[in-house]
Amino acid sequence: MSERLLTVENLEVSFSAYAGEIHAVRGVSFYLDKGETLVIVGESGCGKSVSMQTIMRLLPMPPAQIKNGTVLYKGQDILKKTDKEMERYRGKEFAMIFQDSMTSMNPTMRVGRQMTESIRKHQKAYGTEAKKIAVDMLAKVGLPNPKQIFYRYPHTLSGGQRQRVMIAMAISCKPSVLFADEPTTALDVTMQAQILELINHLKEETQTSVVLVTHNLGVVAKMADRIAVMYAGQAVESGTVRQIFYEPGHPYTWGLLGAMPDMLQSRKEKLYTIQGTPPDLFAPPVGCAFAARCDYCMKACLKENPSEYTDGKGHMVRCWLQDARSPKAEAPEGVIPIPLFPEGGALNG
Ligand code: SF4
Repeated sequence: MSERLLTVENLEVSFSAYAGEIHAVRGVSFYLDKGETLVIVGESGCGKSVSMQTIMRLLPMPPAQIKNGTVLYKGQDILKKTDKEMERYRGKEFAMIFQDSMTSMNPTMRVGRQMTESIRKHQKAYGTEAKKIAVDMLAKVGLPNPKQIFYRYPHTLSGGQRQRVMIAMAISCKPSVLFADEPTTALDVTMQAQILELINHLKEETQTSVVLVTHNLGVVAKMADRIAVMYAGQAVESGTVRQIFYEPGHPYTWGLLGAMPDMLQSRKEKLYTIQGTPPDLFAPPVGCAFAARCDYCMKACLKENPSEYTDGKGHMVRCWLQDARSPKAEAPEGVIPIPLFPEGGALNG
């Protein structure tokens, strides 16, 4: 039986701004088991990164404010931990790979010094021992000449090298959970594939659990055990890769899948897009947040936020279409990506 590491329940996070309160995360729930990869997918501003940073307790408070919810890690509510206690969690239990390695590393410190800082703190290794651990990690992430890179400044490295250094820093204290916040967005396509391959390889080797945040569904299929689809600060659908790709139940997931470029599509055909824009999170709608963009919107959708419907096999859909009283609706033709992911192909869920 799988071991539950992290349980996030009904998490609500807001930001105070001059113009009012931004309801960035509005009741998000998900879980993570030991050794699995959960991919959180959704468009910019849907609350993916804010959720991760809240779990790591990296958000400045104020302006951020946790309004509700619990984050249980190995049975402990980490939202109740003091800043001092959280220092022991960050690095040792949780580590994060950020989107932009250039702004996430200290430009005035050599790579080696930045790496050995957390090795000293969490592994109690000092001097040549700490240096050896750091150099070994740089070699492990595939960097040539790791001893030289140890003494280099971040700005002298390429984007791909810096991202590998960040991964080496993140895994150097063998964290139980690795949060990767769009780790390949700033890289070219070849480098993206290499970095994802590396994260997958390290996860297998160290049995680390991974929470990967992305807006790229191609990445999702390659990496995920389970997927959570977020929209306007809420998880609107979650399940295994197979459930999300082959049995999607939420119109927003249908839209995301339909918008994936299809290699078999004629060049004359227009690429599908989801019309409209996400709602203003200063004043989120009373009903379903996707209603203004949804082709299946009903009266009930405008009046009340949909409940979470689960099928007993771990597939959750937050949509009134799942209610027994609603008219039957299925994913539009072309949404289920059979030609892209044949049976036994990339999908592993
Ligand atoms: Fe569309 Fe209604 Fe479902 Fe929202 S609840 S996604 S508006 S059908």
